[in-house]
Amino acid sequence: MRIGWIGTGIMGKSMAGHLQAAGHDLFVYNRTKEKARPLLENGATWCATPSEVTFNSEIVFTMVGFPRDVEEVYLGENGILTAAGPCRVIIDMTTSRPDLARSIAEIAMSQGIASLDAPVSGGDIGAQEATLAIMVGGYKKAFDEVDHLFQIMGKTISFMGKPGAGQHTKMCNQILIAGTMIGVCESLLYASKTGLNEDAVIDIIGKGAASSWCINNLGRRIAQKNYDPGFFVEHFIKDMGIALQEAEALDLTLPGLALVHQLYIGVKAQGHGRSGTQALMLALKNLNGDF
Ligand code: NAP
Repeated sequence: MRIGWIGTGIMGKSMAGHLQAAGHDLFVYNRTKEKARPLLENGATWCATPSEVTFNSEIVFTMVGFPRDVEEVYLGENGILTAAGPCRVIIDMTTSRPDLARSIAEIAMSQGIASLDAPVSGGDIGAQEATLAIMVGGYKKAFDEVDHLFQIMGKTISFMGKPGAGQHTKMCNQILIAGTMIGVCESLLYASKTGLNEDAVIDIIGKGAASSWCINNLGRRIAQKNYDPGFFVEHFIKDMGIALQEAEALDLTLPGLALVHQLYIGVKAQGHGRSGTQALMLALKNLNGDF
């Protein structure tokens, strides 16, 4: 198939690479062209704008950073929805606002294009290994048409309902991750203060009832003092902010999420906005006098 891909950062480059390796023709755009280089060297075609991507592709995927980026690539000047062409389905895999997913779906539908919101979970490793969980909202017929493409990038794919339902499901994921991350960091902080070897602690507690993706992957990075992204702190702050806004609109109080959101704002204030989310450990160490 002729597939458009916009956003070739940490996640997008691997996900698009799997589609390319499966034999699809890629039409690629990214803000920084250099980051699309490996895909271009493997035969993808560079497009100068998002609308050029739509013009050339049957299906267009996006994996950009923030909701404002999603708005720009879909609705901005030379955006995806400003071009006519063979495009039948557009799929936003960015973690973004549910209401924005609904607006894009409405505008796209008025142009005869079906839209899906399909955020992912599984991290940079899940993207590299094609083991992502992909949660999809939108039109079921469009989902059925592109499910075979999701299968190339992920291991667990679920259709969750109407437009925005994928993003709402991702918020459930992020609320759970928020609680898990503070647990991971406080547990390893305690291990370190009591003189235990952090890796040895993860070897055992990562296999029992406290097991999680976060302790077994990000906990390991903390033990190695590796705070590279993975998943940017500033993206996690964005996700928690969306979840808190949605919850407020529903008269729903989520005090655990609010606490972790505040702590991560502190992590960013300490200069770690572009570090991985495991950098929460640094802010908590700092609170404890940096032992
Ligand atoms: P990233 O490395 O920053 O990738 C985003 C890419 O989109 C960048 O290459 C960026 O361009 C490009 N981009 C942003 N705005 C653009 C625009 N207006 N036009 C064209 N290109 C644009 O981030 P990521 O880690 O891949 O994450 C992408 C999304 O997935 C985020 O919403 C994040 O919350 C979500 N997510 C991430 C993970 C993870 O573990 N990393 C896991 C699940 C979900 P530049 O190259 O110029 O910056």
